[in-house]
Amino acid sequence: MSCNYAEGLSPYEHKGILGIPEKFETLQKFNMKCKILAQLIMESKHVVIHTGAGISTSAGIPDFRGPNGVWTLEKKGKKPTINVEFADAKPTKTHMILKKLVEANKVHYIVSQNIDGLHLKSGLPRKFLAELHGNMFVDECNVCKRQFVRNRPVETVGKKCSGIPCASEHIGGRPCRGRLYDGVLDWEHSLPENDLLMAEWHSSIADLSICLGTTLQIVPSGNLPLETAKYGGKLVICNLQPTKHDNKADLVINYYVDDILQKVMDILCYDIPNYNEEEDPTKLADTSMIDWTISRKNVIALEKIFKLKCKGVKKKRSLIKTKRNSSELSSSETGSVKDDKTKIPKICGITSEQKFCDKDVGDIVVKKEIQGL
Ligand SMILES: [Zn+2]
Repeated sequence: MSCNYAEGLSPYEHKGILGIPEKFETLQKFNMKCKILAQLIMESKHVVIHTGAGISTSAGIPDFRGPNGVWTLEKKGKKPTINVEFADAKPTKTHMILKKLVEANKVHYIVSQNIDGLHLKSGLPRKFLAELHGNMFVDECNVCKRQFVRNRPVETVGKKCSGIPCASEHIGGRPCRGRLYDGVLDWEHSLPENDLLMAEWHSSIADLSICLGTTLQIVPSGNLPLETAKYGGKLVICNLQPTKHDNKADLVINYYVDDILQKVMDILCYDIPNYNEEEDPTKLADTSMIDWTISRKNVIALEKIFKLKCKGVKKKRSLIKTKRNSSELSSSETGSVKDDKTKIPKICGITSEQKFCDKDVGDIVVKKEIQGL
């Protein structure tokens, strides 16, 4: 079904670097790095997670740029063989772990590029989630901009009108003459304003950003985790393929995200909840109207925190330079969903192994051993 979504998008040439071979840590390094990640989560005050298509592959939804990704195969004239319907896809272990970590106040915000609706289905509340590229299970009114959960995935992409009247008055709002449109962005669309603001501000005030299952090639989404590093926070990248920003990360783990997070949960002694249909808003939408609009109050409250913490703080110079170069080449400042056309030569230049041996991370290893973790 990823194919149907991908085929629904308008033609676009610059889909980034496709089909880079995947890498796997040795068991020893995997265990060691997961311990470090668990410790970073425990030590941090504001943790933001950035998710991409790689966290949904275990639900049967193909990614885009992996060795068997939709666009990697498209280039060879092929289509993925495993392909679940969006309607049938269920949240993965990673989605359920993230919901649990939010409940446990260990994760404070999730920024997703995924349109598959699996964070929504996991029962994660809207106030903890930015959906930068839209959601197959959400409609938006063209007048009042309210969003409503759908009980089945939308059949269109690219903000097309379904003709259904806005249901604002049924959820306690004023009557509205607007019509509902699908909320799935095409290449040229601007990102949803409140989702993007929340994502940027949370990433800026975070002392730890963790990227899961994304090669970070799409801008601006792929550059948001760097905001954390610019303000002095730590950056962790968990992905099977090398990513565009591995060389800026404090820790890179090349392994399945489900396995990484399972290990982290074991270390933190947390149970992993099962998917529960009764907490799935797409199931509840069968019988009731469910509002999925970001609360304006939450946006204003976060803006205050962001200004208090980040205004006047000097960003790291090396990362600013990176941003500027990237912007010049990729028009990331336009805020629209476009692939970064820059090549990523550093991916092969600095391996995760080399980065892992850097002093910063070495210090964490020592601290961890002292504390007996
Ligand atoms: Zn409306």
